[in-house]
Amino acid sequence: MSFVKTKVDMTPIEDTVFAIVKKAKEAKAKIGAENVVDATIGSLYNEEGSIVAFESVFTPYDQIAKETKAAYAGSFVGNESYRKQVYDWIVKPSGSTLEHSVIATPGGTGAVALTLQEILDEGESVLLPEIAWGSYKLMAAMDNLKVKTYSLFEENHFNISDFQKKCEEILETQKKLLVVLNDPCHNPTGYSLTKEEWEEVVRILNACAKKAPVILLNDIAYIDYSYDVDHSRDYIKTFDAFNENVFVVIAFSCSKSLTSYGLRCGAAILMAKTKEAVRSVEIVFEKAARATWSNIPNAAMDNFTFVTTDNHNAYMKEKEFYIKLLKERSEIFVEEAKACGLSCYPYKEGFFVTVKMEDNNIRDEFHEALMQNHIYTVKVNKGIRVAVCSLSVEKCKGLAKRMADILNNL
Ligand code: PLP
Repeated sequence: MSFVKTKVDMTPIEDTVFAIVKKAKEAKAKIGAENVVDATIGSLYNEEGSIVAFESVFTPYDQIAKETKAAYAGSFVGNESYRKQVYDWIVKPSGSTLEHSVIATPGGTGAVALTLQEILDEGESVLLPEIAWGSYKLMAAMDNLKVKTYSLFEENHFNISDFQKKCEEILETQKKLLVVLNDPCHNPTGYSLTKEEWEEVVRILNACAKKAPVILLNDIAYIDYSYDVDHSRDYIKTFDAFNENVFVVIAFSCSKSLTSYGLRCGAAILMAKTKEAVRSVEIVFEKAARATWSNIPNAAMDNFTFVTTDNHNAYMKEKEFYIKLLKERSEIFVEEAKACGLSCYPYKEGFFVTVKMEDNNIRDEFHEALMQNHIYTVKVNKGIRVAVCSLSVEKCKGLAKRMADILNNL
């Protein structure tokens, strides 16, 4: 007997991250935090070991009237001012002239979930990166979608030929292509495509779109931590070369951009050549939003608009400090890893660096051995994720060499 729908996977979520976070916490209590390297936490932490909550975000948030916090949002697709500002914040600097609309969502998760849920039919395949944020697969499973993956790298650059191959393979068996690209600052490798690589992606998707509708889901959760943040949106202009058969959904998240993970605010930015195409997806996404979460926190949307306009300078200055810190931490780890031969995926920017592990069995053994040495990390497909976003500069120093020694002694 089952109380839930029949077509659902009943195996519980294996929360591997939570289990390791707990172990790291226990180790800190037992042997002292100074003797533990906790590289598990995927949020931005300061050098003192606490979560960063930007003053420029939370001081204005605290000043928002309680009535505003209490009220429903102006619309099921989000407050007008928020929808406009999300577009102005992300797409406008690129100069793109595609038709567009914005739907507010609970974090980037909401935007990604809406897309997987509403674009494909049950049994169809979504194309994901081989190394990726774990929720994509979970969402696919909940929607009864199949998953196909593309290999991310060929030597130290994006594996464009495998991407093309997998796109073409999907179109041999179904009449629609949905591909996910988590870029810039890919989680968990820290890779960002060059403008030329994006142009290649656009060329390939245009070719696929001669056979069937193509939907590109570009997850930009970490975009505001690009090291060259002023040019981080430039690549979006390459989308203007898409033909009428390609649709773009950009999944935006305030979680990392504003250090406001718990406020559950994000957006799906819908872009296409024609107004009709944008409207067709908007109609379905709006209904799904209304049927699922109804609305997004009013105050969180208003605060994003205030912080990125009136409070822009204070916010950018505060964020810049942490971008520099991320750069310092990651450079230490990556440079030291190079020096001692610890192989990492090609990191450019972002919250995580990932140690390359071609064999998942060796990865498991390595991960266990690291824990025995009080180094706590997160296992990802073909890799070990090191969260430099939450690891102090001091803890980054010497870490790569310690990890390399442990690996060599397996
Ligand atoms: N996309 C990626 C790659 C992520 O790592 C995350 C969060 O960790 C998200 C999207 C969504 O985050 P949120 O729903 O908090 O915006």
